[in-house]
Amino acid sequence: VAPAEPIEALGVVLERRGEPPRLVPLVVAAPGAGEVRVRMAAAGVCHTDLMAVRDARSVPVLLGHEGAGRIEAVGEGVDPRRIGEPVVLAWRLPCGACRRCRAGRAEHCDAGTPAANGGLRRAAAAGGGALERLLGVGCFVSHVVMPAAAAIPVPRDTPLEVAAVVGCAVATGVGAALWTARVAPGESVAVWGAGAVGLNVVSGARIAGASPIVAVDPSAERRADALARGATHAAHPGEASAAIAAAGGAVDHAFDVVGEPETMRAGLAALARGGQLVLIGAAPRDAVLSFHPRAFMSAQHRITGCIYGSVHPATHLPRLLDWAADGTLPVAAQIARRVALEDLPELFGEPPTGERTVVELR
Ligand SMILES: [Zn+2]
Ligand SMILES: [Zn+2]
Repeated sequence: VAPAEPIEALGVVLERRGEPPRLVPLVVAAPGAGEVRVRMAAAGVCHTDLMAVRDARSVPVLLGHEGAGRIEAVGEGVDPRRIGEPVVLAWRLPCGACRRCRAGRAEHCDAGTPAANGGLRRAAAAGGGALERLLGVGCFVSHVVMPAAAAIPVPRDTPLEVAAVVGCAVATGVGAALWTARVAPGESVAVWGAGAVGLNVVSGARIAGASPIVAVDPSAERRADALARGATHAAHPGEASAAIAAAGGAVDHAFDVVGEPETMRAGLAALARGGQLVLIGAAPRDAVLSFHPRAFMSAQHRITGCIYGSVHPATHLPRLLDWAADGTLPVAAQIARRVALEDLPELFGEPPTGERTVVELR
């Protein structure tokens, strides 16, 4: 296989916080040792991408972190037979060697994001210079370079837009129920927020065999979606505590997918003895949650932070892809609209709808 050459590509880059991102000409490197270059096919627009406009850790940053495509070039040490393989990108890549990984807790590995902020730079015509890549991915672009281990194989008959959404929204929501909270059959669950991730928490709770499953959301449409996905009850936030009482009382697991202290407190107040609140929604960086530690102690409660559904990408993403293929998870139905890369920046000026948009990259 001949060595790959760097290529030029347009990417959606946030230059300054508070301003919409723009299309910027980039140069994508040839894959280095242990890396692959992926020709992107589809990328989901996640809340994290939209939030970056407000609170990105550093700029300029190439947005996009849930994506799928096909390997089109491999670096030294990577099996050239992988060229042409459909893959989904994992935005966390455990190192496999630290004490947490060796203890089976790869979800807590410090290595974290997959790609160094290398692999691409602004084209000379656009002023040159390095860029951050959101969550170590940055896939609102036609090609990305990733560590080979962060490009997880996708079954050949799975649409790549489905694989892209599995790569973050599905993994985060379903994983929160199955692998962060470890919901057990017969346990009770309440979920605040029935948007793209919250509906996947409902699906995860259903797969785990939970009952009742109470979904809480101000939107009647989303409440209907939650019931269709396996929630046994659905309530407006103002009626959540009455609905939970009617469903059998305090719950074993409360999930906050909203990211507001108010819904977190409602989740804590709904917990049964020994129950846990799982925080999934990204709160504003300066948000503060206050609660009564005495009652918390007496009731033996727990609060658990959750990113990426505690997935171990190499083992859990293939399982989620299988569930998407056999209909256990209705992923295709979650995709509300499709846009071209060129039309993506203007979407950042619209109020977020919570519906999953997929960027078509070819
Ligand atoms: Zn995401
Ligand atoms: Zn590790």
